Amino acid sequence: QRGDTDRKSVVFIDLDGFKDVNDIYGHEVGDALIVIIAGALRDNVPKDGMLARMGGDEFAMTIGGDNAEALASAFAGFVLDYLHSPIIVGERSIHIGASIGIASGTLVECTSTELFRRADIAMYHSKITGKGRVTHYDAELNNVRERRLAIEGQIRHGLEHNEFDVWYQPIIDARSQKMVGVEALVRWPRRPQGPLAPDEFITVAETSGLIYGLGQFVLSRACQDLEPYTDLKLSVNISPAQFRDPEFEAKVEGALALSHFPPTRLQLEVTETYVLENPERARSAINNLKAQGIAVALDDFGTGYSSIGYLRRFNFNTIKIDKSLAGLVDHDEQASALVSGTVRIATALGMTVVAEGVENEKQMKLLRLAGCDQLQGYWYSQPMPIEAIMALRQQRQC
Ligand code: C2E
Ligand code: CA
Ligand code: CA
Repeated sequence: QRGDTDRKSVVFIDLDGFKDVNDIYGHEVGDALIVIIAGALRDNVPKDGMLARMGGDEFAMTIGGDNAEALASAFAGFVLDYLHSPIIVGERSIHIGASIGIASGTLVECTSTELFRRADIAMYHSKITGKGRVTHYDAELNNVRERRLAIEGQIRHGLEHNEFDVWYQPIIDARSQKMVGVEALVRWPRRPQGPLAPDEFITVAETSGLIYGLGQFVLSRACQDLEPYTDLKLSVNISPAQFRDPEFEAKVEGALALSHFPPTRLQLEVTETYVLENPERARSAINNLKAQGIAVALDDFGTGYSSIGYLRRFNFNTIKIDKSLAGLVDHDEQASALVSGTVRIATALGMTVVAEGVENEKQMKLLRLAGCDQLQGYWYSQPMPIEAIMALRQQRQC
């Protein structure tokens, strides 16, 4: 007789690199590959186990009983072994991997929904720690969660105790090589536990709602800092979460009014994540901002789905080609071609094109040749406090 005290295991499998297969070989090959893999998984599900396809390239196997965990592990091991050799689809031999997470417990400890969630968290951990591996959900992953909670508390404390600063990175006109603007980047130098990079705390701020306060701080401080330098534009990063706030446009207007900063000197950078999730709200927010005279840039172009289609649909003023793509122009022909193509289309649509992550002279020249309007990167300057930026500018002009 089965009961709530039975152990259950969930194995969550997410293929690595499946999107590339679709992109490179086309959907028919992708579909055929899924069918082959699904068949192999099904043939190797342990007795009493159940296999389900969860989404495009995700599978889950659930199993109960005293040996549930061992059987789940063995199955995960089989999957990795199986994917170790290339899979033959028609005349092609395709290499593909998988990131796997396993969670186990009794239904007394947690619901099956919770078990799936844990397996998914464990799978995600496999993904971000190098893929092609199995992670068992355990206290270690809970620690990650706890660390996030701690950082949340620290951000709250930091906002109240003036621990954050805003630094700036020059944006350079590709033709004249003069500084035409700056991008504001948040810094946390006075965190009592030691400085932390924005990549590490912005996501925590986003998931906890603290990004509203932090974002407002960055915007206000940046407007104050830049207000006197009337020939420079200011570009500020906005998280998708901020954009979701129905009051967002009003808050921006308020910050501008307080610092007497003209809207026409401000540009907001948004990533496509938000635009993809909420096309309707995104479109109206972008239009409202543009009606105030504020420019809107699509940030990190080249890192996600990056469809040229959004560029048209959302009327961005600017697109920023991400450093992970722009930085490849000096040694990767494909990347170089992608950049040139993007620039041509964006330019034809009347948008300004900025390339990020320029680290050497060769990249600078190639990006300029490709038609980028503005350039940004360590080759010109690291992000620095406003005084340092202005000193650098004066020095370069002499
Ligand atoms: P991002 O918007 O893509 O910002 C550019 C990042 O690239 C900055 O990192 C900058 O220091 C770095 N960078 C600039 N030039 C180069 C280069 O030549 N080579 C390399 N390798 N890197 C370069 P940072 O300041 O650590 O910020 C990381 C990310 O954190 C930003 O990426 C942005 O997504 C986010 N972020 C930073 N400040 C804010 C903020 O105030 N609000 C929000 N929402 N996000 C922010
Ligand atoms: Ca940015
Ligand atoms: Ca970027």
